[in-house]
Amino acid sequence: NIRDEVSACYEECTAPLREEIQIRRHVVSHIDEAIEKGWIRPYYQPVAWAGDLTLHGFEALARWQDPHYGMLLPDTFIKALEDSHQIDKLDQYMITCICREYRQRVDLDLPVFPISLNLSRLDFFLSDAFQVLEDNVSCYDVPRELIRIEITESLMIGDAGRMEEEISRFRDAGYQVWMDDFGSGYSSLHTLKSYTFDMIKLDKEFIRPFTDKGRRIVTSILAMNHVLAVPTLVEGVETWDQLAFLRKRGCELIQGYLLGAPMPYEKSLENFKRIQQRLHDGNT
Ligand code: C2E
Ligand code: MG
Ligand code: MG
Ligand code: MG
Repeated sequence: NIRDEVSACYEECTAPLREEIQIRRHVVSHIDEAIEKGWIRPYYQPVAWAGDLTLHGFEALARWQDPHYGMLLPDTFIKALEDSHQIDKLDQYMITCICREYRQRVDLDLPVFPISLNLSRLDFFLSDAFQVLEDNVSCYDVPRELIRIEITESLMIGDAGRMEEEISRFRDAGYQVWMDDFGSGYSSLHTLKSYTFDMIKLDKEFIRPFTDKGRRIVTSILAMNHVLAVPTLVEGVETWDQLAFLRKRGCELIQGYLLGAPMPYEKSLENFKRIQQRLHDGNT
């Protein structure tokens, strides 16, 4: 009958939403266990110079391998952890993993590169992100100039004075501070004017899809950043066409599936070298 049909349809339509809510609840109540049991670990995505495709470094991105739900991506847990005021637990753990893994590579004589890590604005209010980083960097003896802090532009609103202070603390100590997702927030230009960043990471939405309008905006932003003398990284680069376009306009760094997806460190480095070789051969 019609009632059963409507009810079946309702069930089917709301199933993804219900699962999303379930995962949110799960994440919020299992963050301590996830950290304790090592379900969370950093994956690393390569960042390269646009001009010659030499490796610049990696961005560390959190991955949560859940025994029940399988591999969870940040979109399913970052917001839930921010809303439940627990994001600092994840970020502190990521900082420790990144520094510890750095030390292991040095001890094994493996090559090391700069690493960028994502901080949430809340990290500065829930606990002392700067001190946590300082403690880990000292403990594992990581050179500060190898660490970049990424702060999402959309999180810069409010408490301007406090954020300025925090950014200065990192920069004065020798860390680079990068503005993430530039152009996605409410006050991009205002943020650029108020704070000093070592790199602007242009949000991937401007080149995805790769439309004429998007290209014009990217061209303008690259020109503006050159005038401001701030280098630009464009994220979400997936095609050779996009790379050629960005090169012509003097974009400094690129990141995206063209160079490799986020993976465990060793795998990511190997994969990048293979892709780099292929892109190089294809280009000459
Ligand atoms: P983000 O910092 O802007 O990181 C870039 C995101 O774009 C990553 O998603 C990456 O996997 C994805 N991406 C990279 N290249 C491409 C590409 O060519 N095409 C497309 N379509 N996507 C690409 P991911 O890993 O899912 O992370 C999402 C966001 O979650 C990150 O955005 C970052 O804001 C946040 N996040 C990730 N890890 C952490 C963390 O440890 N702490 C905090 N606070 N936030 C994190
Ligand atoms: Mg980032
Ligand atoms: Mg980004
Ligand atoms: Mg982004």
